[in-house]
Amino acid sequence: MDYKKYIKIVEDWPKKGVKFKDITPLMDNGVAFKSAVDEIVEFAREKEIDIVVGPEARGFIIGCPVSYALGIGFAPVRKEGKLPREVIKVDYGLEYGSNVLTIHKDAIKPGQRVLITDDLLATGGTIEATIQLVEELGGIVVGCAFLIELSYLDGLSKLDGYDVLSLMSY
Ligand code: 5GP
Repeated sequence: MDYKKYIKIVEDWPKKGVKFKDITPLMDNGVAFKSAVDEIVEFAREKEIDIVVGPEARGFIIGCPVSYALGIGFAPVRKEGKLPREVIKVDYGLEYGSNVLTIHKDAIKPGQRVLITDDLLATGGTIEATIQLVEELGGIVVGCAFLIELSYLDGLSKLDGYDVLSLMSY
């Protein structure tokens, strides 16, 4: 399916010079959204995944329907202070400043096979931090799936050795 026709490019948002890829028109369209989720489910099915992990907030939108379709669980990765129980955390650099992501300490059991989902791969900082959390808990990252990859930002270089699916590339 030509998913790109459902992505709206918003110039200068959230700041000047950024061409933000808005995925909400794709989510609005039941046929396109289902098709995108189904493609990720197919990618995941052969990997015998135990649990899906996604960073807030758009990683939830992609990851939850995938976990539902596979009949497995979903574990959220959230910004610091949002998860109510004991967490592990990772600090990662942003263009300006840094960000902290957390996951519940008991979200992943050692040896579990994990698929990580997010809407978009840009510099790769978010996915790299998410992988670090999963691996620190003993999870095995067997795939990373995105709707969109911004190839000009080269996030893929941070995913060497991981199996990556992206449905669109800009
Ligand atoms: P990265 O950490 O790879 O630089 O950025 C990816 C993260 O930022 C993802 O969690 C994604 O949701 C968000 N993000 C960055 N740029 C965009 C964009 O243009 N569109 C959308 N939908 N999300 C973006």
